[in-house]
Amino acid sequence: MVKFLELAQFFERLEGTTSRLEMSQILYELFSKADKEEIDKVVYLTMGELVPSFRGLEFGVSEKLVMEALSKACGLKLSSVQKLYKDLGDVGKVALEVLKREGKGLSVSQVYEELYSIARAKGTLDKVMLLINLLRALSSVEAKFVVRIIVGNLRLGVGEATIIEALALLLGRREYKQMVERAYNLCSDLGLVAKTLAQKGLQGLAEFKIQPGYPIRMALAERVASAEELIRRLGRCAVEAKYDGFRLQIHKKGEEVYIYSRNLEPMTEMLPEIKQAITKIDADELIIEGEALAVNEQTGEFYPFQITIQRKRKYNIYEYSKEYPLKLFCFDLLYLNDEDYTTKAFIDRRKKLEDLITFGNTLELSELRIVQSAKEVEEFFEDAILRGLEGIMGKRLDAPYTAGSRNFNWVKLKRSYKGQLADTVDVVIVGYFYGRGARAELGIGALLTAVYDPSSDTFKTVSKVGSGFSEEEWISLKKMLDEIKLDHKHARVDSLITPDVWVEPKYVITVSADEITRSPLHTAGKTGDEPGYALRFPRAVGFVRLDKRPEDANTVEEILRMYQIQKRISVE
Ligand code: AMP
Repeated sequence: MVKFLELAQFFERLEGTTSRLEMSQILYELFSKADKEEIDKVVYLTMGELVPSFRGLEFGVSEKLVMEALSKACGLKLSSVQKLYKDLGDVGKVALEVLKREGKGLSVSQVYEELYSIARAKGTLDKVMLLINLLRALSSVEAKFVVRIIVGNLRLGVGEATIIEALALLLGRREYKQMVERAYNLCSDLGLVAKTLAQKGLQGLAEFKIQPGYPIRMALAERVASAEELIRRLGRCAVEAKYDGFRLQIHKKGEEVYIYSRNLEPMTEMLPEIKQAITKIDADELIIEGEALAVNEQTGEFYPFQITIQRKRKYNIYEYSKEYPLKLFCFDLLYLNDEDYTTKAFIDRRKKLEDLITFGNTLELSELRIVQSAKEVEEFFEDAILRGLEGIMGKRLDAPYTAGSRNFNWVKLKRSYKGQLADTVDVVIVGYFYGRGARAELGIGALLTAVYDPSSDTFKTVSKVGSGFSEEEWISLKKMLDEIKLDHKHARVDSLITPDVWVEPKYVITVSADEITRSPLHTAGKTGDEPGYALRFPRAVGFVRLDKRPEDANTVEEILRMYQIQKRISVE
């Protein structure tokens, strides 16, 4: 059994070092002293908390209240304690200064219980009373750490990784670290891992299982720069729309639902419509992941991220859920009825997910396509960008769900925000696409555009353009283009893409773009098997340039030059 004073002395030793190796040694010593009933509490307190943060238990005690409690516990005037706080800037140092006494020798478990009562108490008055009582039983060094824990500022510099190392040492070998990590990744609760290890040893860790109600640490994606790189890394793979909302991991346990954010904060109460939709899934126990997004129900378009994120506020939840209902785009299944799905191949998890998510407005499957060439990736990417998404995700078909790690099992290919081409580009419209969503009504949603190649006197495609025009502009554009529409590709147009409607290359528009990329989809600058060049994230500037002829558009050579310049700039 560890006395709280001993714990405080260990904390002082931890405070005195910045070496991680030394910290894990000190922690190893501390954990070895703790018995199996209290080791979880020792771990939580060392991390400055009472329970893992996904439980959402907060003290709700401000520095100001701590000053009040200290003043009552030591008999000093409140103004003197406050002055001291102003001078020292740390509640811990104030406690050390004003409480000059021996403690009553409480154990870690006793102090933990008291702290727990403070966190659970409803009113401020109750909290302060409980704190005064606790402070009266503590020595100054104990109080120093207690008040720091209460205001959420323990500052020992001990991270999860150091605790994991210390727990591995407890098992006898550093190499056991991976087993500790695995268990942690499956429950996000180092107290539980420590307790399992203390009670059941190595075998307990080896048999450690996912439990609904304990979040799994989320798998993260690496970034790729192009469609080619995506295929090079993943081979034949799945690509999915990348939704710009917030990631959720949702647990269902009988009638209970628990929802966690990407940082593993509890979100259940903020998302009533998602909670309700999940209860309807036909499964006793379930863990899925998805991205939540506010969608305009009239137009089917996504609201900007700022609207979606409003839900993270803690008030007016109900009103928001009515005004901006969220949709959850489900993309992974991690657990189903006592079966761990994280070890299964992505494609098998997805198949099962498709069986489960079959109904309703709130839950949808993420849009997915199986691809095997850079061309297909680029097509999917362009379409996603045109629809206002932030990019795409690529997923290896045979990969397990790697909890708590970032690797190339999942990659993201994002629209670039970084640069913007120094120059705008003039392009010729060679066709158009019918719109989707709100644009469907207009009958036009994007243009296929090209640059001029004087050597062959042809127009080579360089981009789809789907943004920058107002609704009125789209309407007049459609009218103008319908007057010059063709039932086949124009002889002077060189294109691998087939738009819904071909038009005579006549009208020039000016577009700005983030950058020029290599693309197997477009013919501008394409030679043999080498990819062509494309504008990334293009948007129209102004309306049709009636002052320009199609041959006045930028040329393929100019695009190549812009690409070279951009490369030089990024190298510099
Ligand atoms: P990033 O936040 O840029 O590292 O990109 C990864 C994030 O994209 C994930 O954590 C999810 O929140 C989000 N995301 C959006 N759509 C998907 C999807 N279809 N599959 C996986 N993650 C997605």
